[in-house]
Amino acid sequence: MATPASTVIAAPHIVICGGGVIGACTAYFLSTKSSSSPAARITIIERSSIACGASGKAGGFLALDWCSPPLSHLARASFLLHRSLSASLSGPLSYGYRPLHTLSLSIHPEPHSSPHSRSLPPWIDSSNAGSPRTIGTPETTAQVHPHLFTQTLISASSAEVLIGEVTRIEVIEGRVTGVILKDGREIPADAVVLALGPWSSRSSIVSSLFGISGLQAHSIVVRPREPDAITPHALFLSYQDSPAAPTLDPEVYPRPTGEVYICGMTQEVEVPEDPVTIVPDPESIRMLHKIAGKVSSHLKDGEAEVVAEQACFLPCSDDGLPVIGEVPGVERCYVGTGHSCWGILNGPATGAALAELILEGRATTVDLTPFSPSRFLRGRKVPR
Ligand SMILES: Cc1cc2nc3c(=O)[nH]c(=O)nc-3n(C[C@H](O)[C@H](O)[C@H](O)COP(=O)(O)OP(=O)(O)OC[C@H]3O[C@@H](n4cnc5c(N)ncnc54)[C@H](O)[C@@H]3O)c2cc1C
Repeated sequence: MATPASTVIAAPHIVICGGGVIGACTAYFLSTKSSSSPAARITIIERSSIACGASGKAGGFLALDWCSPPLSHLARASFLLHRSLSASLSGPLSYGYRPLHTLSLSIHPEPHSSPHSRSLPPWIDSSNAGSPRTIGTPETTAQVHPHLFTQTLISASSAEVLIGEVTRIEVIEGRVTGVILKDGREIPADAVVLALGPWSSRSSIVSSLFGISGLQAHSIVVRPREPDAITPHALFLSYQDSPAAPTLDPEVYPRPTGEVYICGMTQEVEVPEDPVTIVPDPESIRMLHKIAGKVSSHLKDGEAEVVAEQACFLPCSDDGLPVIGEVPGVERCYVGTGHSCWGILNGPATGAALAELILEGRATTVDLTPFSPSRFLRGRKVPR
């Protein structure tokens, strides 16, 4: 399986715009794969700080076989890359990689009698829980700490990180030549990768071809007093606060750091210009704490220390699939975005495939055809 070749440059300077998981994975695989090609110089340009958006605030849950085609090919390759990366990058616990059991269950706002309590992990309050079902095993589901994962990949790469806001991509005669930063700096480049997550559409190169919207989601991180009581079980919940209230589907991820991450509560709101100014909705945070307390007395307010209350944005494409590949009409300008709720899972295969495309002219880790930005041309001429 391969993606059509484009021109290959010796010892290129590759500029990656965006220091989230997609930018980090691309930098890592450009570094490791360029050792057998002419060595590439890599610069990541990040506006605020590494993993300041969804890549630092995600759950970090990984699943082998939960996606349908064509995403399933990317997900499977990426799940296996996560496994091999965790073995090669300084010990399995360096960024919290571990295989997990995964359950779905309903949580009730008030105690009710449950016939299933014996099949639940002991830290879950069985009086509030119902309909437990195993939906993943340590062979098919795993987790990473997404902020540590993103940071570790950048540290293990040869990339230089430059803090600055990219405002323009320079293109001369249909070929990318560099990027311009808000403070006026001009960074020459032989190739540019746009990995801007929910900010992708702010680049006219992207918005002239397709749209990326941001869906806000909330999360909290708590540290229970007895972390050893919490077993490695990821939980996919269904919760209805009252008969008239909508059914919510929060997720709970205990981490090997002793913390427990709980997320959910999506909202369609405008993506702020600066990631630092993203503020969580207090009512959404209050509901996540309430649900956490219903799941387990270990996670109740007052029983667990609150480590974080936060919000971030999922990058969503017009057709729900990631967009990965060379931008039609702009030679050596690549894009990696639109990974929605699976960017941590699909980061490694995205980064590996982009690195192959850039360095070798063709992607072999995964067939990028279904994810190519060319699919948005729909009969339009390639822009010049
Ligand atoms: C609550 C929540 C839970 C999630 N849980 C999971 C999960 O369990 N498993 C999973 O696989 N996925 C999960 N995801 C999805 C995953 O987090 C995202 O798909 C992924 O992080 C997107 O990565 P990215 O690099 O594309 O974007 P981002 O992480 O948003 O990174 C983009 C970066 O670009 C920078 N940037 C923007 N504009 C500029 C500019 N002009 N110049 C320079 N830099 C700029 C930003 O500052 C940001 O750091 C979750 C997401 C959310 C919101």
